[in-house]
Formats: sequence, structure tokens, C-alpha cells
Amino acid sequence: MKANHTGKVILAGAGPGDPELLTIKVARYLQQADVVLTDRLVSEDILKAYVRQDATLIYVGKQCRRGASTPQETINELLVEYAEQGKLVVRLKGGDVSIFSNILDELQILAAHQIPYEIIPGVTSALGAAAYAGIPLTARGYSTAVRLLTYYKSDVVTDAYWKELATTDDTLVFYMSSETLEGVVANLTRHGINGDKLLAVVEQATTPLQNLQVCNIYDYNEQLKGRKFISPSLVIIGRVVGLHEQFGWLANSNSREEYFKPVAKLFTTITDHTEKVKDHVSRA
Ligand code: SAH
Repeated sequence: MKANHTGKVILAGAGPGDPELLTIKVARYLQQADVVLTDRLVSEDILKAYVRQDATLIYVGKQCRRGASTPQETINELLVEYAEQGKLVVRLKGGDVSIFSNILDELQILAAHQIPYEIIPGVTSALGAAAYAGIPLTARGYSTAVRLLTYYKSDVVTDAYWKELATTDDTLVFYMSSETLEGVVANLTRHGINGDKLLAVVEQATTPLQNLQVCNIYDYNEQLKGRKFISPSLVIIGRVVGLHEQFGWLANSNSREEYFKPVAKLFTTITDHTEKVKDHVSRA
């Protein structure tokens, strides 16, 4: 049904976990939304507090390693379908909307259908984790820059780039890389990364279940190798990590519980509006 495009899509970041890190602007849009399409890494408390009872709430999470993901095509279709019905749609993503997300696909599809949109930022998990772990990412005298990276697909990092990463004094933050961490460490140490660099893994950053583990990058094999980190977790490497000793302000939860539900479990809580999504997921 091609209506006269009175609908609109708000592409919004929900922050890294702590519901209070949601911006006021996104909270307001959630209160107004007719339809909310949400990622897995969004706090349930945010959805409970702000999404209207009569709004359509659809979980379109992706969790590739668990093999239960909503195909991007389905998300695109839902965005267009609801917007063309004249609805106000909030597409809610964990952290910030533009960091390691599929925002480009969504922007392209919205542009192609001439659907109006807004992009509202959120606190990306690197910044949430750094703050809640007491690790100032570009502390004066320690580091002058920070790089947001991922080692999810090993083929995208060339040897020359690893060498550069091993040599730089920039703080390195790796998203989606806790399962490939051994490779990250091997590549950096192989290229002679300085021994004053520490490595931190922040599990479930900014949630009540946050845990931080820190070791010298050259001690990784003895101290952290083989450990299974709880999803989501983030890796920070650099001299700044040592500042946590002095400025960390939040104790580890020491819990192994998961704050964000796995994608598959979410399907027990969804409404019939998501039949289409369920159908796609079961076939994915
Ligand atoms: N757009 C998101 C990132 C999506 S990619 C953002 O801006 O944060 C998903 C990856 O983000 C996870 O694999 C993990 O590395 C990281 N991540 C997201 N939320 C996190 C959290 N609360 N704690 C630790 N890492 C998190």
C-alpha cells in the first residue's frame, strides 16, 4: 500500500545498557512511536518504560554466532511497510546507531522510498565501557587518539595494518571481538606491541552485571586465554587501561547471568505483528 508518505522513521541509539544512558530525545520519540523495531542489545527496561502499551513492538535482533538473526531484508521491509502506512517508526539500536551497525542499508532503503527519517545518536558501548570501567580513553600523556575496530572477520585486517596497530600509541577498542581475542593478541604481540600496554575485557558494560578483566597483553595466554566471555563484551587495549587501577569506581558484579536475552528467547514474548519476522528467522 503506497500511502502519501506521512510516516517517518527515527533511527535511534539506545545506549550501551544502563537505561539511564538513553537520551531524552529518544525517550520522547519512543513515547510517541506507533511502531518500535528493536535490536537485541537494548535494555528491556527502556522498552517497558517508554514504549506505549498500544504500540507495536518488534524484536529484530541479530546474533550471528547463535544462528538466530532477523535478516536485514526483513528489517528493511518492515521499516518501509510501516512508514508507508503513515506510522511513526523508531528503529532502536544498541549503543550508537552508526557504530558497527547496518544503518547504511536502512538509510538506502528509506532514501529509495523517499521516506523521511532522523538519525539520533546514542552512547556507543566503547564510551560506556570506558566510563564505567574508569578508563579515560585519551588521557593526556597516555594516548592522543582512540580507534574503534573489530576483528570479527579476520580477513579484513592486513598484516601491514596489524603492524601499525601494534606500533601506535592510540587506544584500541575492539567490538565484536571477544571470541577472536586470541587472534588479536597474537597479531599484536607478533608485531612487538609495547609491553606497557594492558588489555581489558568489559563484559555487559554499564549494566548491573558488568565485569572487567584486565591483564598485560603479554600475560594474556596465562591469564585469559580460553575464557568464555559473556556477550556483549568489548576489548580495550592501551596504556590508558592501567588507569583503571586508580580510577575504577564500579565493582565487578561477578555474575555470569546475561543482561540481554539471547535472540531466540525473545520470540516467546513477541506479538503477532512479528509473525513475518518469526517466519524469516526460522528459515534463516
Ligand atoms: N552500535 C553498537 C555496537 C553494535 S556491534 C554500539 O554503538 O555500541 C555489537 C558489539 O558491541 C558487541 O559485540 C560488543 O562488542 C559491543 N557492545 C555493545 N553493547 C555492549 C555492552 N553493554 N558491553 C560491552 N560491549 C558491548
